[in-house]
Amino acid sequence: MGPPGAGKGTQAKAVADHFGVPAISTGDIFRAMKTADTPLARQVRDIMNSGGYVSDEITNQIVAERLAEADCEDGFLLDGYPRTPSQVDTLDAALAERGTPLDVVLSLLADEDAVVARLLKRAEIEGRADDNEETIRVRQHVYADQTAPLLEVYSSRGLLVEVDGLGEIDEVSARVFAALDETFQGGAGSAELIGDPS
Ligand code: ADP
Repeated sequence: MGPPGAGKGTQAKAVADHFGVPAISTGDIFRAMKTADTPLARQVRDIMNSGGYVSDEITNQIVAERLAEADCEDGFLLDGYPRTPSQVDTLDAALAERGTPLDVVLSLLADEDAVVARLLKRAEIEGRADDNEETIRVRQHVYADQTAPLLEVYSSRGLLVEVDGLGEIDEVSARVFAALDETFQGGAGSAELIGDPS
């Protein structure tokens, strides 16, 4: 978890590669979906371009379908999901049914000015439709309103691990792996997850 621009996608890929599990990014799934010429694709495109959240109904359905794929059998990493209380409830139910509880919830910390600056830079390089200044501010506020409160939920379950997301990508990765090692060695996860961050 973390605000837009905190570097979730980049760190998610590094962690998922290390543990040999798929990184499931709802943002990536929606970006792939929105290019189609269907009513659903148009709806997703309009919502994303405004900076708001795709409906819980659509989002929960898409994640449920993705988690049912064979590559998720031995574990998975979720990037950008859950983002609302309803998504937390749906995920809880899905994980209970599978008998696979979450090992850890990783939160990347970054202050708003720093992430807005990063996103404006990404706008120049990648040209993502939702990386313009107005939408970036909307996304920060939507995150603060709707998603930041979920950190408290996972913190109260003892699952939350916070990592400073500012600095070079490699520095942040090193912090992420150090935090994960500490967590799993502390008994929160399974022993087979302990490994060198390489
Ligand atoms: P960012 O972290 O910069 O917001 P993402 O790639 O994670 O980027 O998400 C891009 C957009 O996709 C979001 O602004 C939102 O419109 C949509 N989206 C992604 N994940 C979710 C989700 N779990 N629930 C609802 N909408 C989502």
